[in-house]
Amino acid sequence: TPLERIRNFSIIAHIDHGKSTLADRLIQMCGGLTEREMREQVLDSMDLERERGITIKAQTVRLEYAAPDGQTYQINLMDTPGHVDFSYEVSRSLKACEGALLVVDASQGVEAQTLANVYQALDNDLEIIPVLNKIDLPAAEPERVRAQIEDVIGLEAHDALEISAKTGLGVSDVLDAIIHRLPPPEGDDQAPLKALLVDSWYDTYLGVVVLLRVFDGRIKKGQRIRFMSNGAVYTVDRVGIFRPGKQTVDELAAGEIGFLTASIKEVAETNVGDTITDDKRPCDKPLTGYKESQPVVFCGLFPVDSSQFEQLREAVGRLRLNDASFQFEMENSAALGFGFRCGFLGLLHLEIIRERIEREFGIELITTAPSVVYHLYMTNGEMRELHNPADMPDPVHVDHVEEPWIEATILVPDDYLGAVLKLCEDRRGRQKTLTYAGNRAMVVYELPLNEVVFDFYDRLKSVTRGYASFDYNWIGYETGELVKMSILVNEEPVDALAMIVHRSRAELRGRAMCEKLKELIPRHMFKIPVQAAIGGRVIARETIAAMRKDVTAKCYGGDVTRKRKLLEKQKAGKKKMRQFGKVEIPQDAFIAALKMD
Ligand code: GDP
Ligand code: MG
Repeated sequence: TPLERIRNFSIIAHIDHGKSTLADRLIQMCGGLTEREMREQVLDSMDLERERGITIKAQTVRLEYAAPDGQTYQINLMDTPGHVDFSYEVSRSLKACEGALLVVDASQGVEAQTLANVYQALDNDLEIIPVLNKIDLPAAEPERVRAQIEDVIGLEAHDALEISAKTGLGVSDVLDAIIHRLPPPEGDDQAPLKALLVDSWYDTYLGVVVLLRVFDGRIKKGQRIRFMSNGAVYTVDRVGIFRPGKQTVDELAAGEIGFLTASIKEVAETNVGDTITDDKRPCDKPLTGYKESQPVVFCGLFPVDSSQFEQLREAVGRLRLNDASFQFEMENSAALGFGFRCGFLGLLHLEIIRERIEREFGIELITTAPSVVYHLYMTNGEMRELHNPADMPDPVHVDHVEEPWIEATILVPDDYLGAVLKLCEDRRGRQKTLTYAGNRAMVVYELPLNEVVFDFYDRLKSVTRGYASFDYNWIGYETGELVKMSILVNEEPVDALAMIVHRSRAELRGRAMCEKLKELIPRHMFKIPVQAAIGGRVIARETIAAMRKDVTAKCYGGDVTRKRKLLEKQKAGKKKMRQFGKVEIPQDAFIAALKMD
């Protein structure tokens, strides 16, 4: 296809504003889908993704649009990952396009996630078409949202389209706008191959599948290609496109988006953002903006049933096959036995992996406190990264500690602003700006990431009844007064509960942890002290009283089935318990203890 008849775009939208519905509608209008296929939204394919309404892998579909001008256009629609944890992946998907549809729910308005993605699109010089969706709803206020797009984003919105992705109203205007308002790609198909590696995943039949955008040159079967970041060379087995099912094509040329396979064994060999070139006739320099993906949140995953360790090893290995940003290494905890220390792009990423291990592999897990990566500057001048609070060296050898900070943007209706400000202040936040657009406030805070990883999203949602939206980006490392807090149960330190805290917050956190554990650990036949300590100094303490009677005592003389039921219930509960010295701690205590009220 000549470049003038190609359009590459993605859809930017806050969750639930209608991205998938619009994508399906566009696919249907271009004749790419049967009724049966329409029943399921095609672009969000993985179960978990569908359940949570988010997309993790960038996906793309090629449409053929017979325009009213008599020409047939090749339209490549790229669906981008929908969550802050994957913002680098989003930026690479956007780089593969010339334009974007900014879909805003006309009954809701602009949200923080939308903002972040629009700024990324503008950074990549994308042409943006604002689209007001859900105008079929009685609550839709297109005029107000139009003004909001202009005020908050600073984007011209008088020619925003008004549509209903659900009923199909106005959707043909979207296709028309894609053709007339978005620029075609530029590139030279005679120049040496230069393509962007947008995403990759593992396919049981094909091995690693690489999603790519060709900028210059051509790529076809049999060609020797090179990944410029690591120098790896492969022979292309196949190139193809998604419509949305995979379809093999002869070649992909400058301006086009599609996939390749090349007998690549592991996703880890393919780096998102990398430049793919021809091995014999390489381009002179790679595309700009390549960045290695770095995990930012770490935690330990241990099987509740320690005999499942081998199964867990297999599970993490399998998940890693498909997710190069997920890292793990074996860990041995005094309290929890063998498990894995794992690195994630963010909290949601952690949750997804944890849920998949439990669901798909049937392994119940104990998850230890999520931790960020601290930089320890040692007295001997060395810098060490700390991924696990349990590895904190003796403080006399540490000169100072640095922790990562983020800049958070929160959009919230006025009524809840007070609660949001309090939450941010409680988490050591520094307010940068506070502005209003209509009856919504936009507040920007700098926050230490370690105050965000535990339960910030949950708290934010609960204090704003779900009305706030949140997004963040990195600002870097800063020195902080950080110390390791140990938790002792029955005088024994439980390494899995150790955490790094800011000195000013240590007592509060320590007290909260002890109180929580007191609620969560069942009574035993003896008294159990629960303590929080920094170094050798106890900063908080609670005591779990001893159990008075046998639990079944009250059933004596009563009916036997009731007694058996009680014992069975206890046994089922036991499975989720873990023995620490003489004390049994329930599995949920590990995460629950970290949540602050
Ligand atoms: P996404 O998270 O942005 O992909 O949003 P979805 O496409 O999954 O849509 C979220 C919800 O909004 C679904 O229940 C859709 O049926 C609904 N929805 C999407 N577009 C419209 C629309 O134009 N009108 C109405 N009334 N509902 C819509
Ligand atoms: Mg969706």
